[in-house]
Amino acid sequence: MLLLFAVASLPLSLLAQPGDDEPQDTSWKKIYRESYTRINDLVHTKLDVRFDFNKSYLYGKEWLTLTPHFYNTDSVLLDAKGMDIKEVSMMNGTSKTPLKYQYDGMLLNIKLNKTYTRNDKYTLYIDYVSKPDELKVAGSAAITDAKGLYFVNPKGEKKGVETQVWTQGETEGSSVWFVTIDKPNQKTTQEITMTVPAKYVTLSNGLKISEKKNADGTRSDYWKMDLPHAPYLFFMGLGDFAVIKDKPYKGKEVSYYVEKNQAPYAMKVFGNTPEMMQFFSTKLGVDYPWAKYSQMVGREYVSGAMENTTATLHQDGAYQNNRQLADGNGWEETIAHELFHQWFGDLVTAESWSNLTVNESFANYSEYLWDEYKYGKDYADEHNFEDMQGYIMSGSEGKDLVRFHYNDKEDMFDAVSYNKGGRILHMLRNYVGDDAFFKSLNNYLTTNKFKAGEAGQLRLAFEEV
Ligand SMILES: [Zn+2]
Repeated sequence: MLLLFAVASLPLSLLAQPGDDEPQDTSWKKIYRESYTRINDLVHTKLDVRFDFNKSYLYGKEWLTLTPHFYNTDSVLLDAKGMDIKEVSMMNGTSKTPLKYQYDGMLLNIKLNKTYTRNDKYTLYIDYVSKPDELKVAGSAAITDAKGLYFVNPKGEKKGVETQVWTQGETEGSSVWFVTIDKPNQKTTQEITMTVPAKYVTLSNGLKISEKKNADGTRSDYWKMDLPHAPYLFFMGLGDFAVIKDKPYKGKEVSYYVEKNQAPYAMKVFGNTPEMMQFFSTKLGVDYPWAKYSQMVGREYVSGAMENTTATLHQDGAYQNNRQLADGNGWEETIAHELFHQWFGDLVTAESWSNLTVNESFANYSEYLWDEYKYGKDYADEHNFEDMQGYIMSGSEGKDLVRFHYNDKEDMFDAVSYNKGGRILHMLRNYVGDDAFFKSLNNYLTTNKFKAGEAGQLRLAFEEV
């Protein structure tokens, strides 16, 4: 994810530390933020969703396959935020057996029909309604709220704003629109069928396998993601977009979803993407791992940009006209940042928010790597200096890169995880030398791919090289 505002550009008033006279609740300092305990693991998530633009609801049917992580269990606890739960059943072939469950509006506690072992897989069927606008959530610096699913101008009442729907999972917002274990140390393959008004195009993770026109003027698009990724990286977007296809990367689709009046500029803003994919693949010795790479620009987006696997979402700051682009592409480093997350974040995922550095410090540093390759060391060093200043100005002294104590998980998205972490990687690269640095990154990625990683694994990867 990229923050809405670069820290360096924040007004001083926002950077100031709270005064001594303000009462501060410091009870969070005693809470140890460990990795989520794995009792059941996600295996596969299959969704069939429709949208109600009048109510800003999503009507979902879900087939969720899980397996006990190690010990036998006869129950499962799932995240499901602010939903109406209509039915919870166990699938047995094509037949369904209703299950007993308790639901408190946040957690769905299901009693299974028997005890399962780690050699078993079981598939739940859940019929639900997602109501993101009726959810009460805490705000944060990175994401102004955490509704997970956003309807933009759903009734078309606002002039000049196109109707769109998009999702924002990080940190734990995906469980507003589907039932899951909404933790970064879980991974699942996925299928999504989105039924939408036929005039809209859709985007999700993986590949669009088929589309079917329905008699009621809607169309059902079926998206499939064969490789596992974390629930916070799930994405759906829909709207009246132009889809600009760039030259493929090794046969994989590279495309840009922009509003139609922005189509003439899409290649100028995003057109370096295939070269970036080639550059990062070569540098890391790990080829771009996913089936395609698409980027969408969403209206009224609540963050800067988000690295949903194969389907990055950018805020409309990405839109630039010829006059603006004459001064250079102001969004290029963000494009590099989100693309690099496809390895650091999506392929190997921070095991917990305490370990966010293994996602964000790398994405931050990729901006330097791209600048250095494309525009030379001086240009990159200027960016390096600005990011360093951003950290120094942020008043973050005394915060560790890996932090097991924080007030809110959103607090981890700060100048330490980003700016300072990126500078530490730069220091490390200069210390061990380029060959050892990139060989170590390759080792970390190949050792931990499709799994979670933490700073300890990064250290071991460096030590082994
Ligand atoms: Zn990021």
